[in-house]
Amino acid sequence: MSRKGCTGCGLTKALEDFHRHSGRADGRASACKDCAKERAREWRRTNVSRHRQNARTWRLANPEAAQQKDAEHRKQNRERRREDSRRWYRRNKALTMLRATTYRALRKSVTLWNDPRIAALYEIAVWLRSKGDDVHVDHITPLQPADRDAPVGLHVYCNLQILPAVENLRKGNR
Ligand SMILES: [Zn+2]
Repeated sequence: MSRKGCTGCGLTKALEDFHRHSGRADGRASACKDCAKERAREWRRTNVSRHRQNARTWRLANPEAAQQKDAEHRKQNRERRREDSRRWYRRNKALTMLRATTYRALRKSVTLWNDPRIAALYEIAVWLRSKGDDVHVDHITPLQPADRDAPVGLHVYCNLQILPAVENLRKGNR
């Protein structure tokens, strides 16, 4: 078996490890298949839009081959995708359970603390409304923030304030 040195990695490899190349004296490319693959990958990385255009053109010219390639790709990735969806499900289930636990704890804490000052605050708001002031009782740090990663407020006296309703609405729309 004939062998030759690769101009890419410098390793001596079997002739079969080099792509066929009719322009060369020995009928094989100067760089090995591994190096050619790596060079192609590097080219795709630095020529993303041209690579996409080439792929699109190839697809249009070879619809059947493209379909076969897609099927092959899907088959190879099926197991990986299955594992991905399993992981997604596990993570989301954990999140849902965590939210439910947090919510239960929140409700429990409200009952446990049952602060008379909170009732008083609501009574004041009702009284102000009866006087024509459009006010609401507002949570300074929202109980259910729009941003999932934002801190969650508690239904406790120190997190409550009486706000003009307009301001409360504006806050809610943020
Ligand atoms: Zn090589």
